[in-house]
Amino acid sequence: MKIYTEGEKSKGLCQVCEKLVPTTFKVSSVPLSSGKAHVDNILVAKCDHCDHIVSIPQQSSPRIKEVLSTKKHSIEVRLPIHLLDILILASDQFEMGSPDQLKDSLVRYYISLADTDKNVSRSIKKFSESDLAKGSGYRLSLKVNDAAYDRFVHLMEQTKLNKTQLLKGLILKIYEDVLQKPQKKRITDLEKVMFASA
Ligand SMILES: [Zn+2]
Repeated sequence: MKIYTEGEKSKGLCQVCEKLVPTTFKVSSVPLSSGKAHVDNILVAKCDHCDHIVSIPQQSSPRIKEVLSTKKHSIEVRLPIHLLDILILASDQFEMGSPDQLKDSLVRYYISLADTDKNVSRSIKKFSESDLAKGSGYRLSLKVNDAAYDRFVHLMEQTKLNKTQLLKGLILKIYEDVLQKPQKKRITDLEKVMFASA
């Protein structure tokens, strides 16, 4: 990958001038395609004639991506204390410290797993109706990005569960997979995910 420096010259097709123009790399604020936000301090190639952003080099993309994937949603439910304990205990199994932060990754992993695996979503539905799923009272707040939130909503539609029922079932599925009947493959996958987010 070529790394560009501020002030470097190049050429590109300007959409405003509608022709090939000389460009200069400048640090600028970049509007996101949603139009609702922008990212500051991004190195971009600007048209020397009209200052329009002609291109964004590859080196700038991780920072733009980070802003795009910022955790924007929080899923809030009230659960019985034993379900919160199960979630922390399961996160603690991976012995990477900070189980309270890891629990968010664990839930996110199961959201995406259940969204792609019918067997998992079926057992979540079954667990959500079990005795251990009864009760409420303690707040659980999960921070998720747009993608995970969309999957969560999709999963609610698919299972016809509300968000509390869905999270209860999900936590009880985690209980089975991690604490009760751990399966080598699932645990290995989880270890990778947890390690990446620890
Ligand atoms: Zn231009």
